[in-house]
Amino acid sequence: MDFFPIFLKLQQQPCLVVGGGEAALRKARLLAAAGARLQVAAPALAPELAEMAGRGELTHLAGAYAAEQLRGQRLVVAASEDDELNRRVARDAEALGVLVNVVDDAEASRYITPAIVDRSPLMIAIASGGGVPVLVRMMRARLESLIPGAYGRLARFAAGFRERSKQRFPDVDQRRRFWEDALEGPLADAVLNGHEEQAAAEMERRLAGAGPETVGAVYLVGAGPGNPDLLTFRALRLMQQADVVLYDKLVAPELLQLVRRDAERVYVGKARANHALPQDDINQLMVDLARQGKRVLRLKGGDPFTFGRGGEEIATLAENGVAFEVVPGITSASGAAAYAGIPLTHRDYAQSVTFVTGHKQDGSIALDWPALTRPQQTVVVYMGVSTAAELCQAFIANGRAAATPAAAVEWATTARQRTVCGTLSTLPGLMASHGIASPALIIVGEVVELADKLAWYRRSENSAVTIQED
Ligand code: SAH
Repeated sequence: MDFFPIFLKLQQQPCLVVGGGEAALRKARLLAAAGARLQVAAPALAPELAEMAGRGELTHLAGAYAAEQLRGQRLVVAASEDDELNRRVARDAEALGVLVNVVDDAEASRYITPAIVDRSPLMIAIASGGGVPVLVRMMRARLESLIPGAYGRLARFAAGFRERSKQRFPDVDQRRRFWEDALEGPLADAVLNGHEEQAAAEMERRLAGAGPETVGAVYLVGAGPGNPDLLTFRALRLMQQADVVLYDKLVAPELLQLVRRDAERVYVGKARANHALPQDDINQLMVDLARQGKRVLRLKGGDPFTFGRGGEEIATLAENGVAFEVVPGITSASGAAAYAGIPLTHRDYAQSVTFVTGHKQDGSIALDWPALTRPQQTVVVYMGVSTAAELCQAFIANGRAAATPAAAVEWATTARQRTVCGTLSTLPGLMASHGIASPALIIVGEVVELADKLAWYRRSENSAVTIQED
């Protein structure tokens, strides 16, 4: 962290701007808006600055700059058009321990002023350490369009109930939930739409009533195939509200970073033959946590209902009367298909697609081979890396041509994605020679040929796609 972000209370605080031109004017306006007791040191003032002085918003120090003027100031801005003078101001201020900003010179500055999105009392500050101002401006523009102008009104409205909410809900978790309920949904909409009286009456009702009890719930959330951009809004919102998150191996670290910072994180991952927590214990843990009143986020790779044991997990919840919700995610087959340029169905090549698991049960791959080897269909195999050779062999043995195109997509949609394309007879060898490891999907069918033309995604380093055929 190059700069430490803070918000300063400047009402009635002495602040000094050195300089009387455009840059000085911009800074003076901001400081005046923050209620600072403002002095501007410059031989002459630009007209607007002079007007501000006329309105009593600043005091003009008309003499030459002197280090003495810095004494006792909370903040100093060196905003003159003279670089040498600005640096001198910075040196003097540093010597006195007064915070100083040099306009357009982050290097010489002790503090910098961020770009702001002002929904007072709600304030968003954005900075790039002075390095990429254009990016900062672009982000600001986005946020400006994203956040309703009336958010300030909502923030003020909420602040009016803050003390009473503290008395009513001394417990922090309860209080947070009370506010999350209040600041989202119908009540917040009423404030944003200008029905503050109605909203206030509803707040009174909620504060006076028995109030929400601490009832926990479990959210079984699909996190998608790994690329954070592929999360759903619902998933993201729940990630930011969770009290505790249970995640496994397939949930990428980039995704976990999006979980509320204070949420407790529990790894319950299953590496094959290396169960971190047996399934029954995971199920029981979720029941216990929910009963403690926690909002439990069960984060799963891909989609929770596609080879995710989601059904088993919520069955236990249902049996125990624990409230739950299931949020779908993009399953890795969809992610891999899209990012490798392999449409799963295609009018000319495949009229259906089947998802199967290559995982062995009781020592063999128990699949309906006659069904899977019919022509004009795509088969996507999950968990099939270690059994790839047997799988491909079984496809051929059961009647699919050895020359049928087949691909493996490893770490689909992420920066580590690799695709290997071949045929049923060559794919196992290609996977071995490229060291394709789990997580990877195997896609079998004529659609694989399209990757040659349709692959668009390039992971960060070098080439994403290795196309090799006999
Ligand atoms: N519920 C998950 C699947 C869990 S089973 C989903 O909907 O995607 C685990 C298998 O999913 C892995 O063995 C692998 O075959 C596949 N998988 C998960 N994420 C993947 C990814 N990013 N790239 C390729 N395969 C992935």
